[in-house]
Amino acid sequence: MVGLIIPAAGTGERLRAGVPKALYTLGDDPLLIHAIRAGISSGVVTAVTVAAPIGEVEAVRKLLEPEVPGTVGLRVVEGGASRQASVHRALRETPREVDVLLVHDAARCLAPASLFADVANAIAAGRPAVVPGLPVIDTLKQVDAEGAVLGTPDRSALQAVQTPQGFRRDVLERAHRAAEERGEDAVTDDAGLVESIGCPVYVIPGHEDALKITRPLDLVLAEALVARRTSGEQVRTTSPHRRSAPSGSAGA
Ligand code: C5P
Repeated sequence: MVGLIIPAAGTGERLRAGVPKALYTLGDDPLLIHAIRAGISSGVVTAVTVAAPIGEVEAVRKLLEPEVPGTVGLRVVEGGASRQASVHRALRETPREVDVLLVHDAARCLAPASLFADVANAIAAGRPAVVPGLPVIDTLKQVDAEGAVLGTPDRSALQAVQTPQGFRRDVLERAHRAAEERGEDAVTDDAGLVESIGCPVYVIPGHEDALKITRPLDLVLAEALVARRTSGEQVRTTSPHRRSAPSGSAGA
């Protein structure tokens, strides 16, 4: 069984929206609804656990009940002070029969359904931990506290990772327990926790639409994506500069 955990308890201060980010309306619906719909329509999810903003548990349950079919269990818990704490709380409330977990940020609400299926399939194929990732576009600099450049990592070896991240349940539980024992409570990346217990993590191809809505400018892009989806126009995911095959060629 595959469980979907959605940490949605952030305040979204950087978005300056005046409501918890997961409840901010994008197009016609809150970010959280977009995220749940994609997870459910992947067809692989059999249980959903949401970490709601403090004081919003009942409101979030009411909001989500119509979205989650009766065959898929819904649990809503109050989130914690950090994303890590929110995921840990949701994990504890997820039914024991669930043996694979997809952890997905409400902030990446436009990740397509196919990405959930790709991650779950990679776990089913034997990987203990899987994250979607895309090549890094910018050149990155490692700097010290004064801003002095210490080095330039080789960009071709770097990936910007996204969610949903997939884990065997035993692996994710062990990673969260170990972090707690080390006294860490604010790690923002579950895959990072899993790496720190020495478990291999694999990257599979991510998706441009799985962008993280963090700052006001991200909303502009997200609104445009929703509008294009609504109008039925295909969002171009291939390079506009890719040359098409010459006419008359048989193709590869
Ligand atoms: O703040 P940021 O966008 O990095 O948060 C990533 C995800 O973690 C968001 O979906 C947010 O709602 C969630 N979160 C949480 N509990 C917190 C802080 C963030 O569930 N205390």
